[in-house]
Amino acid sequence: MSGVGAEWIRKLAAEVAEQRSALVELDTAIGDGDHGTNLDRGMRKAVQQLDGMSDSDLGAQFKTVGMALVSSVGGAAGPLYGTLFLELGKAAAGHEELDAAGWADALEAGVRGVQARGKAEPGDKTMLDALAPAAEALRAAAEAGDSPADALRSAADAADEGMRATIPLQARKGRASYLGERSVGHQDPGATSSHLLLRTLADTVAAV
Ligand code: ADP
Ligand code: MG
Repeated sequence: MSGVGAEWIRKLAAEVAEQRSALVELDTAIGDGDHGTNLDRGMRKAVQQLDGMSDSDLGAQFKTVGMALVSSVGGAAGPLYGTLFLELGKAAAGHEELDAAGWADALEAGVRGVQARGKAEPGDKTMLDALAPAAEALRAAAEAGDSPADALRSAADAADEGMRATIPLQARKGRASYLGERSVGHQDPGATSSHLLLRTLADTVAAV
């Protein structure tokens, strides 16, 4: 596998593997403790499938990742991240690289997909609390004329901030919402993995 998409997915898979127990710990506090293992399994499968592909079209690569996640990851996050990548794939089809506006289009499509599927809003203490501000920051940076690397760095920084901002929130969606007020004071696992997703993308594009 080759190209910026494949490099990103490889980096993300490595990062998820490294952060697996940290993600499990976060999900043990306000969920069922499977987020790290779920995502690690899905990303391994995604890399395996990409390894067998020669296509460096971003659309084909992200579609493969989306299908791998949907088919191998249970729970809430599998279908949601699967949808995110399927939407990224539709938006990026026909391109081997994207400019800042292209990444903004793709991430916005991904966020819309996650929102349509999970019916969560920003502020509900989910992955959207990292993804939605990242998409907004990415669009603003693209409109300001930033390079793809700088624009994606701004997106990753916004995701980082959004991830930390989940700590005082009470969960209104997903398993953590069953805890009510007891979900307050913990960082959301999905927002944490979404930050990894954006940070590895920014690192990958900066290194090209
Ligand atoms: P499960 O909750 O089924 O065990 P995971 O542990 O893999 O699935 O993922 C939990 C994460 O999924 C949460 O931390 C949250 O960020 C995200 N999540 C759960 N429900 C939703 C939803 N409806 N919309 C967006 N994200 C959600
Ligand atoms: Mg879980």
